[in-house]
Amino acid sequence: MQATEELIRSVVAQVLSQMGPGAPAGNGRSYRGRFGIFTCVDEAVAAATEAFEQLSERTIEDRKRIIDHIRRISIEQCVELGTMEMNETKIGRLEHKIEKLKTLGERTPGVEFMRSEVFSGDHGLAVIEHAPFGVIGAITPVTHSLPTITGNAVSMIAGGNTLVVNPHPSGKLVAAEGVRRFNEAIYRDLGIDNLICMIAEPTIESADAIFNHKGVKLICVTGGPAVARAALKSSKRAIVAGPGNPPVVVDETADLDRAARAIIKGGAYDNNLLCISEKEVFVVAEVFDAMLSAMDRAGAARLNSREIDALTKAAIVSVGEGADKHDVAAKEFIGQDAAVLARAAGKQVSPKTELLFGETDEHNPFVPVEQMMPFVPFVRVRDIDEAIAKAKYYEHGFRHTSIIHSNNVRNMTKMGRALDTTLFVKNGPCMSSLGLGGEGYLSFSIATPTGEGVTTPLTFTRERRCSLIDDLRILGK
Ligand code: NAD
Repeated sequence: MQATEELIRSVVAQVLSQMGPGAPAGNGRSYRGRFGIFTCVDEAVAAATEAFEQLSERTIEDRKRIIDHIRRISIEQCVELGTMEMNETKIGRLEHKIEKLKTLGERTPGVEFMRSEVFSGDHGLAVIEHAPFGVIGAITPVTHSLPTITGNAVSMIAGGNTLVVNPHPSGKLVAAEGVRRFNEAIYRDLGIDNLICMIAEPTIESADAIFNHKGVKLICVTGGPAVARAALKSSKRAIVAGPGNPPVVVDETADLDRAARAIIKGGAYDNNLLCISEKEVFVVAEVFDAMLSAMDRAGAARLNSREIDALTKAAIVSVGEGADKHDVAAKEFIGQDAAVLARAAGKQVSPKTELLFGETDEHNPFVPVEQMMPFVPFVRVRDIDEAIAKAKYYEHGFRHTSIIHSNNVRNMTKMGRALDTTLFVKNGPCMSSLGLGGEGYLSFSIATPTGEGVTTPLTFTRERRCSLIDDLRILGK
């Protein structure tokens, strides 16, 4: 672990000190050879601006070639980079760190997602094309440091943009190593460097400097409540992929074994770090006990009330003062294995256990808190109406993700209407809503308060209309 960190630190230091051919530093000189690694926001934006101008001269085929390098590295080097991410952030599960990079490399929508629209009529043609913004400022989370950068880079470059990333400080080393590898491969093949720039020592101040930089034309933030609020206050247009607390409802018509398998798959993925992961479950009384038995059969480990109390005391803490006082997940438990949580609860489970669960009432802090750890509380409710009302309440109006297991389309419809979430999954694990075992496409930036939804290359474009008056409608009168 120590060795990996030292290796990455030395790579960053090497790139920063490298004054290779054409290398740094402002005043009209090129930033080629920096491979996207910067300590100064002004320099990073200048380099990304220079890269944007070069990209604007290139063909769509070149954009595809650039993205193919990002895809290739994410797929071929997923084990090495996923291991670095795990070693640095110390949260989540190694197999999923690796899988996330591979999946994003394979499936993030690229240039093939771009399109134009046309209006053809008596007065000729109007073509709507999707143009880049320019340099985009991206803020990325610790829960998926390099994966978020990878997905953002593919989508943003497919739209013709370049980016300056302020990664989470606890995932900055793997971010730097990934960014360096992407840029170097692109530079060697296409001669453009710094399409993806990042701040090697990110801080709140460097995030603010990106928010306020006049060279940054759009902001894309992926993170929790504080950064979402900061982005929404910014004077620039912001695409905000904010926090969630996805509730699950199980009604009396559900296939309980299928529901249990889905809850374990989604709720345990990367130790519950996904913003879309199952966070609390409301089960109607008629099938409550049978649902808990289905969870046992599917391999989750059940905690009793004493064990849940012990875990709650250890893993949920209170922060803030006065009216701001609220519960949050304790840092040392976020993204830890189920066996680690079980130990804190006073129980031994096999290291292979993926998810802990148990009955709580709705007032247990695990229900309102976005816990990001593999313990999921199950709350007994009278009927579907109470389940939906409580799911809505504890989703906190984030309008992020909600899930139902049911074979009653009226109940599905009622919940879909009431919850009003960006993603609404029926009878599957959360990730099926991102095209992983369900239909649709993938992104790790799901824009919730600002409404763009699962981001694509088109999210990062501006519409331009090109009108030809009275001609080129070839269909005759
Ligand atoms: P976080 O909010 O602690 O950090 C996210 C990023 O914002 C980091 O780069 C951090 O340094 C920065 N940041 C934090 N406060 C800031 C401020 N006041 N000003 C500027 N920058 C600030 O979140 P995290 O723990 O890294 O990630 C988990 C959170 O992200 C969860 O709430 C999860 O739901 C959310 N998330 C959402 C999506 C989505 O697509 N909607 C995807 C992944 C994660």
